[in-house]
Amino acid sequence: MTPLPASQQLFDRARAVSPGGVNSPVRAFRAVGGTPIFMASGEGAWLTDVDGNRYVDLVGSWGPMLLGHAHPEVLAAVGAAVARGTSFGTPSEPEVLLAEEIVDRTSAEMVRMVSSGTEATMSAIRLARGFTGRDKIVKFAGCYHGHVDALLAEAGSGVVTLGLPETPGVPAHVTADTIVLPYNDRAAVEAAFAEYGDQIACLITEAAAGNMGVVPPEPGFNRFLSEVCARHGALFVSDEVMTGFRVTRSGHWGLDGQQEGWAPDLVTFGKVMGGGFPAAAFGGRKDVMEQLAPAGPVYQAGTLSGNPIATTAGLTTLRLADADAYARLDAASARLRTMVTEALAAEGVKHTLQNAGNMFSVFWGTDEPVTHFAAAQAQEAWRYKPFFHAMLDAGVYLPPSAFECWFVSAAHDEEALSRIGAALPGAARAAAR
Ligand code: PLP
Repeated sequence: MTPLPASQQLFDRARAVSPGGVNSPVRAFRAVGGTPIFMASGEGAWLTDVDGNRYVDLVGSWGPMLLGHAHPEVLAAVGAAVARGTSFGTPSEPEVLLAEEIVDRTSAEMVRMVSSGTEATMSAIRLARGFTGRDKIVKFAGCYHGHVDALLAEAGSGVVTLGLPETPGVPAHVTADTIVLPYNDRAAVEAAFAEYGDQIACLITEAAAGNMGVVPPEPGFNRFLSEVCARHGALFVSDEVMTGFRVTRSGHWGLDGQQEGWAPDLVTFGKVMGGGFPAAAFGGRKDVMEQLAPAGPVYQAGTLSGNPIATTAGLTTLRLADADAYARLDAASARLRTMVTEALAAEGVKHTLQNAGNMFSVFWGTDEPVTHFAAAQAQEAWRYKPFFHAMLDAGVYLPPSAFECWFVSAAHDEEALSRIGAALPGAARAAAR
């Protein structure tokens, strides 16, 4: 491992004043070992750490950086917005423009802005319960919807990375109304609705699972979910926090619902729509959204919701995310997927690489399709550790967990891809041992 004295020094100081030295568990290197790297700056596909090392970034701030880092037009728009004042606590124009852009791109007829994906899913569930007058919710094992108490049941992302079976602090009665089912399992969904259908407020699912590694919905699965919900008077909530505005201009819905002619009742967004700032949203059917205060009785609020800087960053990002940007991103992702598979195959590393549009991840030690959480957990995740560190030493920054998705940006050009190409053979050799 390359010595990183400045990162090490900051991490030592951070551990003294912050639990585990990080402000979000997935940033720690618990699953891969070593010191979390403190980044000092980013530009395009590249990050520079506090020791002066440069890396091609395949984390993209865990999804938001669709255009790469420090896009000059986003920086200019944000700079101009900051100069006008940072928060007013009143409605302002950028939040209207961003809401219009989201409504134009997606199935949502109306949206409410919040500041994180967690708030978006938490609020969508409250709204679904308020709208239906029912308490039970359905989620899938391995899907992660933020750290909402009721949704921290068999969750993916950092919960699986750290191997936490459950989270102290969430009382049993809070998850008592949460039904957890295996992903992609139609029979389990039918059975749960047959038993509890008239008590279920909503079913929430990642539009494509990206928090147990990437596990796409089987063809027609999301449509099936929306039909089962409709049959039982429950709302279908599609969590597009990760996929939204990333896998197409309309999110994952652009790959299924938009083409098949159905729409979720509620949908949640985050990550890309904030352009690297804390902005998220939930939206959906007008008749449901109008149950929210002040139009309706379901309370939901936020001091910084629709913040003018965050919404300006998001709006500028989305306006720049045109057909060309998505074509570049998709092409870079496709090339990268081929490069990774070829490098691993050359060293005889058994693996399954799965994608949902341009999002992808690798499952280690299996060559079977991975369709649900138990199969994702059964992979040889230990092979990722030497692979990760070999890539890092060769200047490629990957997510520090085998259970996370790899994020490419529209700024991943030939130079970035060739750095990754040079790093892969050694990393594949390390994973083969
Ligand atoms: N939903 C999904 C699908 C996510 O991937 C995440 C975060 O990774 C969230 C919700 C929570 O978003 P946030 O971390 O902004 O609270």
